[in-house]
Amino acid sequence: MILDDFSLKGKVAVVTGANTGLGQGMCVALAQAGARVAGVARRSCAETAQLINKDGGEFFEVIADMSDTKNAPVILNTVLEKYGCVDILVNNAGIILREDAVNVTEEDWNKVINLNLNMVFLLSQAFARQYIRQGHGGKIVNVASMTSYQGGIRIPAYTSSKSAVLGLTRELANEWAKHGINVNAIAPGYMATNNTAQLRDDEKRSGEILDRIPAGRWGTPEDMAGAVVFLCSKAAEYVHGFTVAVDGGWLAR
Ligand code: NAP
Repeated sequence: MILDDFSLKGKVAVVTGANTGLGQGMCVALAQAGARVAGVARRSCAETAQLINKDGGEFFEVIADMSDTKNAPVILNTVLEKYGCVDILVNNAGIILREDAVNVTEEDWNKVINLNLNMVFLLSQAFARQYIRQGHGGKIVNVASMTSYQGGIRIPAYTSSKSAVLGLTRELANEWAKHGINVNAIAPGYMATNNTAQLRDDEKRSGEILDRIPAGRWGTPEDMAGAVVFLCSKAAEYVHGFTVAVDGGWLAR
């Protein structure tokens, strides 16, 4: 039956940036769909664990600073030690630094590119190698952005990283589909999380943004649930290299 294809029962899912925001929302959704969820963060994920455990779900915390790319294999191995296999990777951790392009330092540029792009590639590579060793495919879902399509303003490194994530998603899908690995992405619109706190605090910018969202509201972590469960499930077996917008209609405007 079709709804069975959306079940993630028995799967091991790894979500980066699991302590808050969209990552937390996706952890909860994947657990509700039946997956055992390993959440990666540099701080405690106690709140995420509580949200999952209260519904009888399973959550395992992996503390790692993802600004150090050497942690990519460490994250994979920590989950393998716990569960023995992996089935799903959601590359969600990301940062945004707002500054006029003429004032951005090389250090800040590298900080954003390192986490939002380099780590996405290195973790995807580590997981793909493991999926190939396991021999039965796997899922990778990257988190893109409206700036995968549009320029944005005062966020040159962020826009570059998220535009690259869209291209990388297509490239990796082309290479790994033959191994039964689905690489796709979700492009969230304007969501109410720490990432947009500065924008939402600016009454003028916030009003301009809201006026342009056809759905008439900011998105929430819960809005990510349907798309992430679909892309991580058997129901998406023939979906490769696509970026799904969860944006309240922003891109349609
Ligand atoms: P958020 O609440 O700021 O979440 C970002 C997550 O990344 C947090 O869990 C954060 O942990 C983690 N992270 C940052 N640096 C890290 C590091 N060095 N090591 C490990 N984890 C680190 O914002 P969010 O909106 O949920 O963002 C999640 C993803 O969605 C990001 O990739 C973001 O670019 C993307 N996105 C968001 C929006 C939006 O409107 N909110 C729109 C499009 C795309 P800490 O709490 O420790 O910092």
